[in-house]
Amino acid sequence: MLSSRKREIRIQADSVREKCKVSRYGIIDLFKECDRMGYKLIRYPLGEDADLGFALKKDDDIIIYINTSIRLSRQIFTLAHEIGHVILHLNGEQSFIDNNATISGSSVDEKEQEANYFAACLLMPSDDVERFIDLELPDFEKNGLSGMDIARIMSEFNVSYDVALNRLESLGKIDSNQKIRLETERTEKRVGNLLKSIGGNSRLNIAGNEIVIPYEYIDYVIYNYNHNAIPKNTLEKVLECYQLTMEDISDRLVEFPKEDDDLDDLIGGLED
Ligand SMILES: [Zn+2]
Repeated sequence: MLSSRKREIRIQADSVREKCKVSRYGIIDLFKECDRMGYKLIRYPLGEDADLGFALKKDDDIIIYINTSIRLSRQIFTLAHEIGHVILHLNGEQSFIDNNATISGSSVDEKEQEANYFAACLLMPSDDVERFIDLELPDFEKNGLSGMDIARIMSEFNVSYDVALNRLESLGKIDSNQKIRLETERTEKRVGNLLKSIGGNSRLNIAGNEIVIPYEYIDYVIYNYNHNAIPKNTLEKVLECYQLTMEDISDRLVEFPKEDDDLDDLIGGLED
């Protein structure tokens, strides 16, 4: 990637980040930011082997999907990557579908590399990484970074161990030998244990299987049901995704008079 293009991407990532709620260093909840940015976010567990996410433009909507069968830190990076596609690449009716190859950085596709660079700059801007190391990791100059320090960086910036290492390497905070040492430490001690040992956010390392679907999709399905366009069991299946039952939305369903009652009324009327 040309350095001028990298700079453009940093500018874009910076302007997105300015709109986000940030704690001392890291974005607090990138999922919530999608609302603020006007994107329709769908989170659904499609299984560990399914795609990680996609971004597409449909009519006036920008839709981002994130697979929640994947551990949280990876979901967050995928989301940042998809936002990168939206900001940098999504013109007209287009879509980007992402899997392990496009997100891990092994893809040679330029747009995938750009989206990954955008994600890294959005989640871990160099200034904030610098400031975190300076203020929060006092032994850095003397001892370099330990696995526990990486866990601290993960917890603050809401990234995975791998993303933290890659970013620290590209910012020149660790060299390739230190990276290998930290990868070995990760294998020996496990990320979950490292997070626990520093009182960090253990949720990052777990797949939450969250289900989040824009609420207007329920309206759409209820509308179709009320107009006899879909059967009851389809409505029930969709409601299940929202962890709702027919009873929960009963006030929004059009009541069709039961046929038997009609007949009774009619017969009753005749007898009178
Ligand atoms: Zn991509």
